Amino acid sequence: MPITVKNPIVEMDGDEMTRIIWKMIKDKLILPHLTIDLKYFDLGMKHRDDTDDKVTFEATEAIKQYGVGVKCATITPNAARVKEYNLKKQWPSPNATIRSGLDGTVFRKPIIVRNIPPAVRSWTKPIMIGRHAYGDIYKNSELVVDGPGKAEIVFTPAGGGTPRTVPIHDFKGPGVVMGMHNTESSIRSFAKACIQYALAEKTDIWFGAKDTISKQYHGRFRDIFAEEIATAKADLERAGIQYRYMLIDDAVAQIMKASGGMLWACMNYDGDVMSDMVASGFGSLGLMTSVLVSPDGKYEFEAAHGTVMRHYYEHLKGNPTSTNSVASIFAWTGAIARRGTLDGTPEVVEFCRRLESVVLKTIEGGVMTKDLAAIAEPRPGSHALTEEFIDAVAKGLAAS
Ligand code: NAP
Ligand code: MG
Repeated sequence: MPITVKNPIVEMDGDEMTRIIWKMIKDKLILPHLTIDLKYFDLGMKHRDDTDDKVTFEATEAIKQYGVGVKCATITPNAARVKEYNLKKQWPSPNATIRSGLDGTVFRKPIIVRNIPPAVRSWTKPIMIGRHAYGDIYKNSELVVDGPGKAEIVFTPAGGGTPRTVPIHDFKGPGVVMGMHNTESSIRSFAKACIQYALAEKTDIWFGAKDTISKQYHGRFRDIFAEEIATAKADLERAGIQYRYMLIDDAVAQIMKASGGMLWACMNYDGDVMSDMVASGFGSLGLMTSVLVSPDGKYEFEAAHGTVMRHYYEHLKGNPTSTNSVASIFAWTGAIARRGTLDGTPEVVEFCRRLESVVLKTIEGGVMTKDLAAIAEPRPGSHALTEEFIDAVAKGLAAS
């Protein structure tokens, strides 16, 4: 008897190898066990191009409406992709569109499997990364300067008043220049989301920036974060949560010696880079989950990795692939469990925990994809192909 999920979940399909995995997960692990109303949006590259990217904005609105979404990895087109897919233009990153639409913060948490030892010996507990998902270089304006001239920052007050001008550089020859921004309300939402997440997960909070160099820009981040921490002081103390502010380079050095178990709050670019570093340190990008949380509690779940293009091209050539589906499976269980929590349906949450535990037991039992087989202890004699792993989980789930 399938379990009924009361309210809808927004499903966003994607590209390449992850799109293939996505369908297998849905058909073999989700739909046989749940009666579920999925509001489907196809964010595959071709459909985004066909709709002039409107589908991404519609999906974002749907997440706002229903409160829970699950997303497959998607191509962020570059010049090569424009050619490959014959695109009308270089559409923006769907993740960036959804993040700014929800004003959300992205949290990444590695899945810890007993027989996959971390690359950094001291990392015995997960290191969770909170990435501020608005602004900085992801919303920049930039240009290539082709010869001598002056670059300046000009701020013109909306209500009149004298514009403020700050020189950037007096170019003697060609160069490059970039302007970027952030907003106080977004930084505040970021700090608030980090505090909420740390309270829910009962973990310490680390925040790193480069305020010695960027006294105003990074300095504002440091100060706003400190203000929000001060506001939440009583709650944090009650939960035994410590807050540490560090220079970003100090934080990077400290993290390599820490045992984990903290939320590392990162500015946008740091979070982008450090989450990939932490993910590979814990084993594989295929073991890193990601959730976007808006200040008003809308959640969007996904795997942290991309579309695994290299594997897709092997697949197209008819070669067997061994692509890890674990983070994509946990995106589904994360979203469905969140739905179950909001709906007050514990049997739905229990199904998700059961599926997650079957995934871990499958790997701990020696059935795993190539990326994990290379780093597991003990090393399994062989690795599972993409579909073989999902089939093993489906079998374990049916028997559980
Ligand atoms: P990627 O898809 O994350 O894959 C990079 C490499 O990491 C793969 O070639 C593979 O290494 C390994 N890997 C990643 N996920 C894996 C998995 N589940 N199982 C096994 N190995 C895995 O990054 P990319 O190739 O740089 O990017 C491809 C596309 O994804 C790009 O168009 C990019 O725009 C997009 N992207 C989307 C998102 C998103 O939607 N959230 C995030 C990042 C990138 P080996 O080849 O060594 O096996
Ligand atoms: Mg990244």
